[in-house]
Amino acid sequence: MPQLTYRIAKIWGKPEGSSEKYDIDEQIVYPDDKDLNFDSHFTGKLTFIRLKDEISVLLNSAEVKIKFSCNRCLKIFTRNVEIPEAEREFFHEEPKFESDDLDDLFFMNKKRMTIDLNEMVRQEIILHFPLIPVCSRSCKGLCPVCGQDLNKVKCKCKPLNEKESADTFRPFKDLKKLI
Ligand SMILES: [Zn+2]
Ligand SMILES: [Zn+2]
Repeated sequence: MPQLTYRIAKIWGKPEGSSEKYDIDEQIVYPDDKDLNFDSHFTGKLTFIRLKDEISVLLNSAEVKIKFSCNRCLKIFTRNVEIPEAEREFFHEEPKFESDDLDDLFFMNKKRMTIDLNEMVRQEIILHFPLIPVCSRSCKGLCPVCGQDLNKVKCKCKPLNEKESADTFRPFKDLKKLI
């Protein structure tokens, strides 16, 4: 079976309210998504619930290690991205209700009787990314003058004091003189 794809013929043949559980432990790749450099299997628990017109997919306790580049010192580091819980509905038919954007809805593959969780998982991983990836909270970053990694070396550059650095963001500071 392709990555993160599940057979649903069995559960779809069961009465409404039936459920099935799976453990996910899979090496995944998203070749088109350069930000997703996985450093572990993707693991988690899946529950499929057979509803009237759709299968509800619950993802719990999912996690995967991802390589990030530190926002301050550019070092590559690995961080665990956790998805405590997520849910999507996979419809059997296009729903009757009005929808602005059918692209946001998920459907089962009726021909193969499978559902493809790749887009759901991709969205949830990105949603749970660290806001600002830094290798450690105390990372000193790179020297803004010489570019050296201040976690490793103590360069002799004069640190930009607050006034000076504030001035660099004031493009109109000499405007008065010009006028
Ligand atoms: Zn860093
Ligand atoms: Zn320096």
